[in-house]
Amino acid sequence: MSHAVAGRLARATAATAGSGLDALLITPSADLRYLIGVPYDAHAGVSERLTCLVLRGSGEPVLVVPRLERPGYQGIGLDELGVELADWVDGDDPYALVTGLLGGAPRAVAVSDTMPAAHVLGLRAALPDTEQRLAGPVLRELRMRKDAAEVAALRKAGAAIDRVHARMSDLAKPGRTEAEVAGAIAVAIVEEGHVAASFVIVGSGPNGASPHHSVSDRMIEPGDVVVVDIGGPMPEGYYSDSTRTYCVGGEPTAEVRDTYAVLHEAQRAAVAMIRPGVSAERVDGCARTIIADAGFGEYFVHRTGHGIGLDVHEEPYIVAGNDLALEPGMAFSVEPGIYLPGRWGARIEDIVVVTEDGCEPLNRRPHELVSL
Ligand code: ZN
Ligand code: ZN
Ligand code: ZN
Repeated sequence: MSHAVAGRLARATAATAGSGLDALLITPSADLRYLIGVPYDAHAGVSERLTCLVLRGSGEPVLVVPRLERPGYQGIGLDELGVELADWVDGDDPYALVTGLLGGAPRAVAVSDTMPAAHVLGLRAALPDTEQRLAGPVLRELRMRKDAAEVAALRKAGAAIDRVHARMSDLAKPGRTEAEVAGAIAVAIVEEGHVAASFVIVGSGPNGASPHHSVSDRMIEPGDVVVVDIGGPMPEGYYSDSTRTYCVGGEPTAEVRDTYAVLHEAQRAAVAMIRPGVSAERVDGCARTIIADAGFGEYFVHRTGHGIGLDVHEEPYIVAGNDLALEPGMAFSVEPGIYLPGRWGARIEDIVVVTEDGCEPLNRRPHELVSL
């Protein structure tokens, strides 16, 4: 992996200089995993002790790391990447160490979007005359366009979560609570190759009308419409994320079938229009118009999609107002939903990757409302 990563550091260094920044300061996050290829570990290095990649517009990148965590960064090919380690011990001032690496008082630095506030303010105190910006806008230009190895990793993640949806008739049964079903799904997510189940939404009946419902002790009743939105990181760090809507222990009513047909058409049409040059907001508008024209506009209460990669939500966002032109290698969800408050809801979500002349869906399970 480290050869792919080596090019990333060089591109990020060029982007840093090109953005008028003296340095990027990247604490443990998907950004750090992207740049130096550290293995997936959701919480590694995120603490009150500063771990921070100092990526200057010129010169070698330096990873500032607490000495007790240094072993975790050895043997992962940092020398090959030309990344130097600078460690510090409790009692040292790690912000002064960063300041020293920056050669005094730089004009502007960018910090990772998820850097803990304690570190942002620690750096501000050490560099009072330095403008702080966000690194996200610099790094998203790199992370948004997936290379072939990243697309392969996302394809593997898509196949793994598809295998979990394929097992749904064994997992979701009437008489079980949402929480029981979610527990069984979480086990299946790991069995099918993920490192962890990072989210398991099982929204049955009226709970399906709340897009961010997680799970509850509600018992699934025969004939319930159930939204199942699941995913997690694979060993390489890339995420899966796929939603299917099921009718558990019964057949859908005519109203459910007709409404679901609108949603299915919205998801199909949005995917069908994806190709290089089409803007993100047009894809959102396509799904939204179909749902609104059928009279459900007020019940589609979120954007159509989000980028995915080393973070489950990242650029590009498929949302009104985003005129970004899609390019080959961009990977994102297409996940329209219809949510009827107090009654039921439905969502269909696939991850797609933009190709030279269209897009490749990475999720292949049937889109129909499946009766279990
Ligand atoms: Zn999603
Ligand atoms: Zn999802
Ligand atoms: Zn379909």
